[in-house]
Amino acid sequence: MSNEKTEGLIIRLADFSESSKVITWFTRDFGKIASLAKGAKRLKSSFEAAIDLLATCRIVFIRKSSGGLDLLTEAQLVNRFRPYPGNLSNLYVGYYIAELLDALTEEYDPHPELFDAACVVLQHLQEHDDYQKSLIIFELTILEEIGQLPQFQYCTGCSQELGELESYLYDANNGGLYCQHCEQQRHGKVRVSRGTITILQKLTVENTLLSQRLNLSLQQQREIRQLLSTTMSHILGRRPKMAPYLQL
Ligand SMILES: [Zn+2]
Repeated sequence: MSNEKTEGLIIRLADFSESSKVITWFTRDFGKIASLAKGAKRLKSSFEAAIDLLATCRIVFIRKSSGGLDLLTEAQLVNRFRPYPGNLSNLYVGYYIAELLDALTEEYDPHPELFDAACVVLQHLQEHDDYQKSLIIFELTILEEIGQLPQFQYCTGCSQELGELESYLYDANNGGLYCQHCEQQRHGKVRVSRGTITILQKLTVENTLLSQRLNLSLQQQREIRQLLSTTMSHILGRRPKMAPYLQL
């Protein structure tokens, strides 16, 4: 057993006993961890103020050597998640982010850049009355970090140039788009216009600051939402629970 220190986001909370909780964290240095917080439900517990879904905390925990739950010994609140006032969508998007981090990452598999990306999008949800572009950037980041980012540059059938089509067929099973030739032998429900693909290419290669300046039309937002929703459902083997709340 060893004492570990890191910063973490609360992505799931469950009661363990009358007085204790199991807290699942997405931490900066260790990836996902599940920790037992003894006495967390008591009013005067040392964790009381910190424990809230999507709160960011500095934590100390004792790592268990063989399976089982880690033991949380300290949790100091850094930021409590408070979505933009009056905007319920931003709250649901927060839940969706917690769901993705929980479902798509493994315990003790650190992704510090993904941790930072999650903090950026949660900050945006607190300060702004919109979420689409920030959420898209986060989703592309998590897909890239887990090695599941769709291929937007080349045909996923023949690896050749996509060619200039008005729109492209997207196939979540193969994680990409098809050229005109390959498209004829394939099936897929999602069609994405060329302008939207150009934006996705930019968002996946350029840095976040440049991406922030891109403007997305409602049509482009809808196409990207459909593409990402199909992709997440394919990877998870089910539709994300919060997906119905993200429809445009
Ligand atoms: Zn092809």
